[in-house]
Amino acid sequence: MKIGAPKGTRYILPPEINKWHYIESIIREVMNLYSFYEIRTPIFEYTELFQRGIGDTTDIVNKEMYTFLDKKGRSITLRPENTASVVRAYIEHKMYGLGGVGKFYYIGPMFRYERPQAGRQRQFHQYGMEIIGTKDPKADVEIIKATEEIYKRLGFTDYKILINSVGCPKCRPYYEEELKLYLKDKYDQLCDDCKVRYHKNPLRILDCKREGCRRATESAPKIIDYLCEECKIHFEKVLSYLDALNIKYEINHRLVRGLDYYTKTAFEVIAGGLGAQDAVGGGGRYDGLAQEIGGKEIPGVGFAGGMERLILALSHAGIEFPREDIQDLFVVFREEVEKEAFALIFRLREKGVKADYALGKKSIKAQLKEADKKGVKYVVIIGEEEVEKKILTLKNMETGEGKKITEKELYKLFEKE
Ligand code: AMP
Repeated sequence: MKIGAPKGTRYILPPEINKWHYIESIIREVMNLYSFYEIRTPIFEYTELFQRGIGDTTDIVNKEMYTFLDKKGRSITLRPENTASVVRAYIEHKMYGLGGVGKFYYIGPMFRYERPQAGRQRQFHQYGMEIIGTKDPKADVEIIKATEEIYKRLGFTDYKILINSVGCPKCRPYYEEELKLYLKDKYDQLCDDCKVRYHKNPLRILDCKREGCRRATESAPKIIDYLCEECKIHFEKVLSYLDALNIKYEINHRLVRGLDYYTKTAFEVIAGGLGAQDAVGGGGRYDGLAQEIGGKEIPGVGFAGGMERLILALSHAGIEFPREDIQDLFVVFREEVEKEAFALIFRLREKGVKADYALGKKSIKAQLKEADKKGVKYVVIIGEEEVEKKILTLKNMETGEGKKITEKELYKLFEKE
């Protein structure tokens, strides 16, 4: 019986894995430079963490979680996102010690039971960053700047930053009432999901993609006109710091993000060439989250980007990825001298030369073919004569040129500066 991969999952195989390593190395480089520390949280958590943290009016909690009972009957969920876990870790391990403010980043798989399509999987990967323990609007901007810096180092320019404020529990209810009042006589135009949202989470109607809901909300009141003094000042400061750093953004009144825990700043990055699933990342401030999951009031702000979507966007923009899987050298040998060749391969590796060879009994011709297929530039060929005379035959696969060379000279050839 053939067993396929579960729907919505993908194998990341060589040579594609090169792209992942490359992007991950740039994320780590930037995070390091900005003093963010890596954090690794469990892949599964108690369901309650997400129910309370993300909120049970969201699509994620309502429809998309991979939830099951473990052998003791506890409800477990594969993490659909990582912010709740990072904040929980910060509270549980009392990480306020690090100067009061914690700056963390992560890279890893997330799980959501969604309908798979281009750019949307059930197991996907996010990289993300969080600044926990401060209300300072500079933190919001640092997160956005770090996101931009990662794109810049990747050579990626085809994106747009959208920003909005979703207020706070003090001012948002007033806006929600206004929005409901405005939508009251348009209720019938809303899709079934938005009819439910109208009662439970009216803000989400604003980012529904359905035609009828778009039309119904076209001239809806804007949340930024209803912010309380604190949220208004915060938003103004965020925009002014963005301006100070020359970061381009667009204020988007429809941007409310899918998660309940956001307060004040919400932002999203959309990229060209991705069709309907064009968000490569999103984030915002979550000052109420820590309290929601059982801690004290600890403000925070963060961002999560989709790895698969970023790779799609980079490929669409024609960005080249360096290949890391090409060996320096392929050692081709006759069977009679396999032990000598085998030992040479490891001497080369000890000297830092990425040397490889063909496993299994193969003719010289087949070994050369394998080297060629792997794109290796240099080959050394060893037979009895070479072993006897302690000399190697070096072949440049690109030019076809061959020459005799000593082992020492061979090391020299691959010496990295
Ligand atoms: P969210 O927390 O839902 O805003 O997700 C942040 C980012 O993760 C999105 O902007 C996407 O780039 C990515 N993402 C979210 N869900 C999926 C999915 N099902 N498949 C692939 N990428 C996703």
